Amino acid sequence: MRVALGERSYEIHIGPGLLDRCGELLGNLGLGKRGVIITDCNVAPLYAARVQAALRQAGVETVLLTVPAGELSKSFRQVERLIRKFPAFKLDRQSCVVALGGGVVGDLAGFVSAIYLRGLALVQIPTSLLAQVDSSVGGKTGVNLPQGKNLVGAFHQPSIVVADTEVLRTLPERELKAGFAEVIKHGVIRDARFFAWLEKNYRKALKLDPAAVAYAVRRCCEIKADVVSRDERESGLRAILNFGHTIGHGVEALSDYEGVLHGEAVSMGMCCAAWLSVRRAGLSRTDAKRIERLLRLSGLPTRIGNQFELEQLHRAIRLDKKARDGLPRFALLTRLGQTVVSSDVTDADIQEVVDVFR
Ligand code: NAD
Repeated sequence: MRVALGERSYEIHIGPGLLDRCGELLGNLGLGKRGVIITDCNVAPLYAARVQAALRQAGVETVLLTVPAGELSKSFRQVERLIRKFPAFKLDRQSCVVALGGGVVGDLAGFVSAIYLRGLALVQIPTSLLAQVDSSVGGKTGVNLPQGKNLVGAFHQPSIVVADTEVLRTLPERELKAGFAEVIKHGVIRDARFFAWLEKNYRKALKLDPAAVAYAVRRCCEIKADVVSRDERESGLRAILNFGHTIGHGVEALSDYEGVLHGEAVSMGMCCAAWLSVRRAGLSRTDAKRIERLLRLSGLPTRIGNQFELEQLHRAIRLDKKARDGLPRFALLTRLGQTVVSSDVTDADIQEVVDVFR
C-alpha cells in the first residue's frame, strides 16, 4: 500500500518472507550503493545477515551498527555514538540508513538519518508488532530526554517500509502483546468495525495466525497512512493517534523507561482516556468497558498501580509535548471509531480517573 504525501509518498510492503526480498524492493528507489544498517543486539543475530545479503544482491553494500536493546538507546548518547562512525563509511547524499528492529531502532535510526548530511534516505524494516503497525509509518523520529519521551526529534518520512510478518514469530510474547495495544488503538480511534473484528479475532492475531496478523497490520497501516496523509505534521487530525499516550507517556517517564513497556503504558493510558471520554466527550460507558475488556483479554495491563505519586504523574503529563500553554491535550472519543482532541480536561478529571485506575 501507498502513503500519499506528494513527493514524500512511499510504499509499505506487508507479508511473510519479505526480508529476503528487501533488496529487490529497494531496487526501484534510485538509492545509492552504500548504506548503514542500524539494529539492536537482539535483532542483529536473528536477521541482520539476511538483510545484508538481500541488499548486497541488489548491489547495495552496508555496514552494520548495533545498539543495546531497549528504550534507553533512544538517547543523544547513541545518536552521537552512531553518527561519529558515519564519516569513515564515506556515505553520500544517495546513501541510505536502514532501520532494522522495533520502534526504538526505528525512531533512533530515523533521527540519525534525518540529521546526518541534512537528511539521508530512510528504509524502515520494522521487526516488532508495534513498529509494523505504528512507529515505522508516518515519519516521526526522535529520542528521549530524562524529563520526557520523544522530546527531541524530526519529521523524516521513510523512502519505503518493508514489514515481514514472519519475523514476529521470534518476538517475545510480552512485546507482542505490547504491540497489540497499538493495534487496538487504531480500531478504537478510527474504525469501530475493525475494533469489533479484533474483539472476535484477538486470540488468532496474538497466536500469529498468518491471515489474521497480515490483516491487522495492513488495517493499522491503512488507518495510520490515511491520518498522516491528511495531517503530516500534526497540526490537527494526527493528534488523534495519541489516544492513550498523554497519560501513557507520563507513566513511561516516571518509570524511567524501565519496567513498563511503551505499549503497556499506552494500554493503561487508553483505559484512562476512555473514561475521560465518558466524562468529557460523550462516549458511552458500554464502549469504555468494551475497550478496557479487550485490552484485558489481550493480556495488557489496565491499571496504573500505586507506584507513582499523583502529583508526579500530573507533572509528567503537563510536560508531555502535546501540552499547550501547560495544559495537556487529550485525544478523546465521542464514540468508538470517532476521536476529537480536547484541552477541556481538568486536573480534577485527571485526578479522579487516575485514582480509579490505580
Ligand atoms: P523495541 O524497539 O524496544 O522492541 C521491543 C523488543 O523486542 C526489543 O528488545 C527488541 O530487541 C525486540 N525485538 C524486536 N523485533 C524482534 C524480533 N522480530 N524478534 C525478537 N526480538 C525482537 O520496542 P517497540 O515496542 O518495538 O517500540 C517502542 C518504541 O516505539 C518507543 O520508543 C515508542 O516511543 C516508539 N514509537 C514511535 C512511534 C512513531 O510514530 N515514531 C509510534 C509508536 C511508538
